[in-house]
Amino acid sequence: MQITFAGANQEVTGSCYHLTTSAGSVVVDCGMFQGGRYAEEQNAQAFPFDPVAVDAVIITHAHFDHIGRIPKLYREGFRGKIYCTPATNEIAMLTLRDSVHLLADEADRTGGEPLFGSEHVEPLEQLWQVIPYNSDFAPIPGMRAQFADAGHILGSASIRLEADGKSLIFSGDLGNGPVPLLRHAECFVGADTVICESTYGNRVHEPGQQREAFLRDAFVQNAKNRGVLLIPSFAVERTQEILFQLHQMHKRKEIPVVPVFLDAPLATNVTEVFRNHAELFNEEAKQVLGTDGDLFNIPGLHITETADQSRAIAEVPGPKVIIAGSGMMNGGRILHHLRHYLEFPTTTLLIVGFQVEGSLGRRLHQGEKRVRIHNQDVTVRAQVLSCGAYSGHADYPKLMQWLHCFQGRPPRHVYVTHGELNAALSFSASVQEELGWGSSVPSFGSQFSL
Ligand SMILES: [Zn+2]
Repeated sequence: MQITFAGANQEVTGSCYHLTTSAGSVVVDCGMFQGGRYAEEQNAQAFPFDPVAVDAVIITHAHFDHIGRIPKLYREGFRGKIYCTPATNEIAMLTLRDSVHLLADEADRTGGEPLFGSEHVEPLEQLWQVIPYNSDFAPIPGMRAQFADAGHILGSASIRLEADGKSLIFSGDLGNGPVPLLRHAECFVGADTVICESTYGNRVHEPGQQREAFLRDAFVQNAKNRGVLLIPSFAVERTQEILFQLHQMHKRKEIPVVPVFLDAPLATNVTEVFRNHAELFNEEAKQVLGTDGDLFNIPGLHITETADQSRAIAEVPGPKVIIAGSGMMNGGRILHHLRHYLEFPTTTLLIVGFQVEGSLGRRLHQGEKRVRIHNQDVTVRAQVLSCGAYSGHADYPKLMQWLHCFQGRPPRHVYVTHGELNAALSFSASVQEELGWGSSVPSFGSQFSL
């Protein structure tokens, strides 16, 4: 078996791996490069393998940096099956359909060509094969595969593959449990080779309990200031997590009723997928669901669909809360709210997720006082708060804990991916020192025989 590293190497986005066995070829994840200076060129670049010859694609989870180049793969001739969990399939199609408009708008602005259109997304509907956690399946003859819950977003999985007498495990993105809705990442039995993410391979998050206090304090303070609380939120998981937490706080009467605008059509649709897959929630969330019936409804919630409704939010006086995408502030409706409100000291910007290098979110997180949004200079007078505890990714101790699962049958090698260079190198060194296993950080396009 041979592996080619085709994305998220020494960086966080663009996840993609190509495997060849005696029976065929498989791609694991096919994500978009995002945020960085060269992202656009990287996405336009040819795959380091032949898309026509790919027999199957296996997807760890529905984040855009893991699925965003599937339509490009289709455009370039791929016609095989796409394997994932049921929730991943539903969220992936919502996300890909949503991205068609975003890519078209961007192409209009820049005069370029969109990477794909709906003619490359809709036919995918025929290719999905959904497989629940912990059941064996054969993506190609002679290959056995299995998904295990990765605890990262709804439907997220780690993957174990076996072919040609060799076994390997892809961590996928690993969750930062315990979190409000999801279960912990599951363990697999060992494998010869492990491919492990390292987004936060060199840091320790604040304890998870701090999330709730952080959100509650910001919400209450904003109500007192009669200000605007802006929450740029990822459509999948983070939005639902925040709605669920606000739901709980209302129940305990810890926060006042303030208009909360969910100004993110994709997040609204994804919330429906969550409602339909309550079987994937952790025990605590299932219990609350049993008594409350709906985890995502809160007093004062307004769901905006159209662009006109989105603009009309500006006419509502504070205090108010606006939850909008994109989570890294490099597109979406959050931009017009930022342009409008960042210059007021009564505005609070709450950063609740990873901000990739090069994104507007990263610059605001680093304290830049002057930013450019929609060709307009904006002076930042708003209070910018961020909470690492909100991360959807395992930190260094949790990544190590997941690797410890394999101690009974140590892998021969751990390839460290999906992390900026410093994080990946530091994590790879820790794997060598603490576990005594071989480890390295592959570069884009590198190939290894397993
Ligand atoms: Zn992810």
